[in-house]
Amino acid sequence: MKRIALYPGSFDPMTNGHLDILEKSFALADRVVVAIGIHPGKTPLFSFEDREAMIRGALPELSNRMDVIAFDGLVVDAARAHNASLLVRGLRDGTDFDYEMQMVGMNGAMALDVSTIFLPASPDVRHITATLVRQIAKMGGDISSFVPSGVAERLKARFPQS
Ligand code: ADP
Repeated sequence: MKRIALYPGSFDPMTNGHLDILEKSFALADRVVVAIGIHPGKTPLFSFEDREAMIRGALPELSNRMDVIAFDGLVVDAARAHNASLLVRGLRDGTDFDYEMQMVGMNGAMALDVSTIFLPASPDVRHITATLVRQIAKMGGDISSFVPSGVAERLKARFPQS
């Protein structure tokens, strides 16, 4: 049976931190569903289509084992809808751990058939957050060491002064 993992997040935009976890998750699953959370009332920097293109562009050699979907409900419902038995989450620090452990408890109570897997951030990317990348890019800073090259290009096009 094919093992399917769901990797949920905002990916607005994808960073080298997200990429690190995504690459590792392919060692655990035959297919990975990258699930982009859409929050009604919150305007993202990039559209779903742009975010999908940046994710696929960062990992072209694995694009045929990847689905990129949008979801606006519960993560466990998105996992079930895509037959995913694994839920992948990246851990950067103790704050992530405490929050994620609460989510594991709640998600576990809602869906016994979906198991969460924590993957530790690699030391060289654990400081990266999409929120800070957006802020730095807006202020004209150099974000090229924090994101894949395709993402850096789109950020530069969006904020031409950087
Ligand atoms: P962010 O708001 O930083 O983009 P998301 O909510 O999109 O974060 O996160 C999606 C998943 O990616 C989460 O499991 C999160 O822990 C993980 N993640 C985000 N940044 C990193 C990083 N630098 N290293 C490892 N995992 C990360």
